Amino acid sequence: MQKINQLSKHMANLIAAGEVVERPASVVKELMENSIDAGATSVTVEITDGGITSISVTDNGSGIARDDVETAFLRHATSKIRTEDDLAKIETMGFRGEALAAIAAVSRIALQTKTADETVGTGIELEGGVVTNLTDIGCPNGTKIMVCDLFFNTPARHKFLKKDSTEASYVQTVCQRVAMANPSIAIKFIKDGKIELHTPGDGNLYTVLYCLFGRETAQGLTEVRYDREPVSVYGYVSKPTMSRASRGMQYLFVNGRPVKNATMQAALEEAFRGKLVSGRFPYAFLNLTVPADSVDVNVHPAKTEVKFGRKARI
Ligand code: ADP
Ligand code: MG
Repeated sequence: MQKINQLSKHMANLIAAGEVVERPASVVKELMENSIDAGATSVTVEITDGGITSISVTDNGSGIARDDVETAFLRHATSKIRTEDDLAKIETMGFRGEALAAIAAVSRIALQTKTADETVGTGIELEGGVVTNLTDIGCPNGTKIMVCDLFFNTPARHKFLKKDSTEASYVQTVCQRVAMANPSIAIKFIKDGKIELHTPGDGNLYTVLYCLFGRETAQGLTEVRYDREPVSVYGYVSKPTMSRASRGMQYLFVNGRPVKNATMQAALEEAFRGKLVSGRFPYAFLNLTVPADSVDVNVHPAKTEVKFGRKARI
């Protein structure tokens, strides 16, 4: 056996990047989550060439104070949790303090940010995780982050990317999910200079679904509302007259977080049993709200899976 070495920070970041940053869509997901956590009411995502050449996410959130800008790119650097107790009741989208470090390790980044208290903003540039520039900059309150040349220094990962149009469609799906989970945030998605998606942020989920899927789909939906402290379900499902041959139009969320969850899917299909012939699946856009401490979101690096304390109730 070889001697045991502790890996360098750069190597640790590259390995973490493998889990968190698989493709442009995963970068967009992490960056949009940061904008949501920063309290943004407007988030614009712009990509070129499927996000492989460039991704930018602009928000009007809290911004990052000058003193914190460099720290934000360190691994396990987060403003969202502090103690073990915090980990048991996550109320933010992020908490692992991993995304910016992981994305920075495998791309070139330019970020501009300003908090409301500051008179001048901060600009920072990184290449492969190394800071190459840090300056004062004039910019609006909020944060704009640009991620260029994803995987420029990890050719093995670059090779696994699909063609631009496929990567772009994955990014669009992420934007759709974020829009559905956050009707109060105006979401705009621009692909190669063209607006593909734009929600007004009026707080109404029906408006979002109308914007994303058009009038015909929206009219085939019926509202779902269930409230029994401390659990509630809100959203839309299709009327039995509208169904699909796949589960492709089922979007499930827990506390505003898009999830894949077999328990929720089974509960949905159980509710439709006898209403749809076998092989047909309902549309569903459902958000389950449960107390933060009754669901474990820390079971998957990309946070797409959750574990419930009491499955049967779901
Ligand atoms: P996490 O979201 O898990 O805390 P990240 O690596 O995604 O970790 O971000 C690190 C920190 O940088 C965040 O905790 C937050 O304080 C800050 N940050 C990142 N993006 C933004 C943003 N768009 N607006 C304000 N603060 C941000
Ligand atoms: Mg984050």
